[in-house]
Amino acid sequence: MADCIFCRIATGEIPATIVDQDADTLAFEDLTPQAPVHVLVIPRAHTASVRELDDSRLLAALLATGHRVAASRGLGEGGYRLVFNVGPDAGQSVFHTHLHVLGGRRMRWPPG
Ligand code: 5GP
Ligand code: ZN
Repeated sequence: MADCIFCRIATGEIPATIVDQDADTLAFEDLTPQAPVHVLVIPRAHTASVRELDDSRLLAALLATGHRVAASRGLGEGGYRLVFNVGPDAGQSVFHTHLHVLGGRRMRWPPG
């Protein structure tokens, strides 16, 4: 997807601060962090949202990378939030599947 910003981050065409990666996933710092830790985990392959992602192995890989990032930031004990925004009503603004890893402060619930 030539016009997809996260595809372009995955290929290295657009710079990002990469914090973790494996064969199928990439994790990088969110440009506008909403918490002391705010990392996005994406599949390298394009899908618009997690609703279209029916590959259970890839879903597990996204979660594993998210947990690994959280552990590497020392969030294991205190906890962290994993979020998929799915579609416009959920606030999704970039239509390449991404998992938010948020932590380092007390999270509010319910979300706004
Ligand atoms: P969404 O609102 O779609 O769930 O989340 C998209 C996230 O991508 C937002 O938190 C936004 O700050 C982040 N974002 C948008 N454009 C860029 C970019 O070019 N680079 C990085 N690193 N993050 C971005
Ligand atoms: Zn994409």
